[in-house]
Amino acid sequence: MTDGGRHIAVIGAGIIGATTALALVRVGRRVTILDPGQPGGVQAASYGNGAFLSPASIIPVSLPGLWKKVPGFLLDSNGPLTIRLASLPRLAPWLWRFVRAGETWARVERTAAALATLLDGAQDRHAALATSIGQPELIKRKGLIYAYHDRRSFEADSTVWSLRQRHGVRLDILSVDALQERAPGLSSTYRFGVFLPDGAHCHSPGDYVRALVDGAVVEGAELLQGRATGFDVRQGRLVGLLTDAGRLDCDGAVIACGAHSADLACQVGDPIPLESERGYHVEVKTDVAMPEIPVMPQDGKMANTPTQGGFRASGQVELASRDASPDWRRADILLRALKVTWPALAVPGAIQSVERWQGNRPSTPDGRPVIGRSRACADVVHAFGHGHIGLVSAPRTAEAVADLLAGRSGDLDLSPFSPARFRR
Ligand SMILES: Cc1cc2nc3c(=O)[nH]c(=O)nc-3n(C[C@H](O)[C@H](O)[C@H](O)COP(=O)(O)OP(=O)(O)OC[C@H]3O[C@@H](n4cnc5c(N)ncnc54)[C@H](O)[C@@H]3O)c2cc1C
Repeated sequence: MTDGGRHIAVIGAGIIGATTALALVRVGRRVTILDPGQPGGVQAASYGNGAFLSPASIIPVSLPGLWKKVPGFLLDSNGPLTIRLASLPRLAPWLWRFVRAGETWARVERTAAALATLLDGAQDRHAALATSIGQPELIKRKGLIYAYHDRRSFEADSTVWSLRQRHGVRLDILSVDALQERAPGLSSTYRFGVFLPDGAHCHSPGDYVRALVDGAVVEGAELLQGRATGFDVRQGRLVGLLTDAGRLDCDGAVIACGAHSADLACQVGDPIPLESERGYHVEVKTDVAMPEIPVMPQDGKMANTPTQGGFRASGQVELASRDASPDWRRADILLRALKVTWPALAVPGAIQSVERWQGNRPSTPDGRPVIGRSRACADVVHAFGHGHIGLVSAPRTAEAVADLLAGRSGDLDLSPFSPARFRR
């Protein structure tokens, strides 16, 4: 039921828009969700991600020493991170800020502390959300495994693991036997594991987004097919949203269109350095028994996740233009890694079919999303730039946006996520 008060347009029906729309209808707002595509469809990062709901995801990608690896990223097209040479001139300013953001451990610590607040209780929040829309089975609380070849390679990551532990991430060390027991079929070259008992995963990210949007509609939201193109702001107040399907009267808006958010944000006074960290997945259908707990093999930097559609390997960071055509060789790297990691999949005939997907992580250089009121119009709120953590951090983002639009301060400190950090 709406309070007959503010009418909020939620721009984008990915996981951020879907959870935000639901949070807003639940506090009595009139809500219209706008997306040119199907909610949870293949166009969205929210469809194809690794489905990890990991409390460990508080570490940004940019870490001290990264700059030394950049030449390798340009030359090695088989690694987990690559930069398309042709995009380098356009990407350079973003890359510079990206490298700077992780230049010292003090900076990484600040980002980790901020992300820890955003991820706090994420698994409980997702479980409650899924239950509230009648789909509890979409969130699986079986924990998560990070697999290493040996203790030495784990110890090479010890700085980030102790940072995680300082922020309350609970972990159990797995011996080789315990690792095999929890992840049967994992290559025997992995002899050391970290188990996160509080970790969870989504069984079908696309279906989850669709179900959240359906839930919002059942509770009173309206879903419109269309693309937002601009804002009608008069004397500093929002009076309408301009779309390719016509004008929509509204007095509040949330920019939640992932990697496509920068143009709209710029129109309301916030030029945000937002790039696409392009990612890929392969999802295989197989009769081979795969583990029920997702595994992240640390050498391949990919998430291996049992999903409704099959066993999914997702990962790769490809820095290139958002709209460039996919380079399916990157998906093939994932497929090859999958067969090495799970040798039974390498047996001829073990894989019946493979789905390949490419999508855009909406990424800021400092690894923190942009959540806050826009500079030119307080009625327009930013909720984008979630990079590698948009799925896990969506419910808390949505609550924060609902608080902002209700004029409440909320319990999340939004200063680390403020758009003002990019203002000169
Ligand atoms: C390979 C890969 C693996 C990942 N793994 C994980 C993981 O394991 N865990 C995790 O937490 N995160 C993960 N992520 C990150 C996560 O998927 C994203 O951060 C998240 O999906 C972003 O959600 P979003 O709603 O902001 O954007 P999107 O999901 O991209 O949705 C944006 C929506 O906006 C719509 N849109 C675009 N322009 C307009 C417009 N002008 N008007 C209206 N609508 C518009 C689009 O059609 C789209 O539906 C991964 C990402 C990738 C690519």
